[in-house]
Amino acid sequence: MFNGKDSVAGKSEEEIYNKLGMDFILPELRENTGEIEAAQEHRLPKIVNYKEVIGDLHAHTNDSDGVNSLEEMASAAEKRGLKYIAFTNHSKSLPVAHGLDEKRFAELNKKIDALNDKSGIKILKGVELEILKDGSLDLKKESLKELDFVAGAVHQNLNMSSKELTDRLVKAINSGMINTVAHPTDRIIGQREGLKLDFDKVMEACKKNDVLLEIDGYPERSDLPFDLVKKAKDYSIKFSLGSDSHRTEHLRFLDLATAIARRGWLEKKDVINTLGYKEVLKLRR
Ligand SMILES: [Zn+2]
Ligand SMILES: [Zn+2]
Repeated sequence: MFNGKDSVAGKSEEEIYNKLGMDFILPELRENTGEIEAAQEHRLPKIVNYKEVIGDLHAHTNDSDGVNSLEEMASAAEKRGLKYIAFTNHSKSLPVAHGLDEKRFAELNKKIDALNDKSGIKILKGVELEILKDGSLDLKKESLKELDFVAGAVHQNLNMSSKELTDRLVKAINSGMINTVAHPTDRIIGQREGLKLDFDKVMEACKKNDVLLEIDGYPERSDLPFDLVKKAKDYSIKFSLGSDSHRTEHLRFLDLATAIARRGWLEKKDVINTLGYKEVLKLRR
C-alpha cells in the first residue's frame, strides 16, 4: 500500500487491514456475511482453533456399517491425538446399515466399558438414532439412558412436505432424549439437495431443549453448511462436530467439520468437542 512513492503498509496482510482501521479478517471469514463491519467495529469472533477440538462425536465401527473394529477405530483416534471418541452406530430401523437393536447395544456397551478400562483414549457409548417417520425414536428410553451420546438422524422416508419434515424433527428434539441432530439438512452433495426444513422452527426447538446441532465433516455431507451454522449461532445454539467415520482413514474429516465451524464464526465456547471427556458426559440425557 503506497502513499505517492512511500510504502505505508503491506509487509503483511494484517498491516493493510490495520491501516484501513479494521482488524485482520481470517480467510475463513471472508464470505461477505458481515465480516467487514465486524472488523471495523472490532467485534470479529475469535474462531475455534483446530487444536482446541479434542474429541470426535460421530463415528461408526463394524458393529453397524463401519469397516474397522471398535479397537481399531479407538486406537487410530488415539494416534491422531484425540482425547475421546463417541461411537454412534446406527439403530435397528436402518437395516441397510446393520442397525443395532436394544440387545446388541447392551452387548456393545459392555465391550466399550471393558475397552475404556484399558485404553488411553476415552470412548463414549453413542448411537446415531433413527428419527422415525412420525418423529418417534427408534430405541426404548431405558436403552437410550444407558448411552452417553445420542445423535438423532433422519435417513429414510424423506419424501414428505416441509411442514411434515419440520414437525418430525421438532418432535424428536422435544423428546428430551437426544443430544444432537446429526447432519441436519441431510444433503448429499452431488446427489440430493438438503431437506426443505423450516430452520427457524428447528433452531427454536434446539434452543428451548438445549439440543445441539451437528457439523458432520464427511465431505459429501459437510452438514450443517456454514451459513446455517452462523444462523444457529445467532440462536445461541451449541454444536457437536463429527467425522462420521466409517473407517480409520475417515477420522481426518473431523478437521473438515472444524473448518466449517470456523467459516460459521464459531468460537471455542460454541463447540462442545472442546470440552473434556467428563464434561461431555455431563450432557447425557
Ligand atoms: Zn447418518
Ligand atoms: Zn453416521
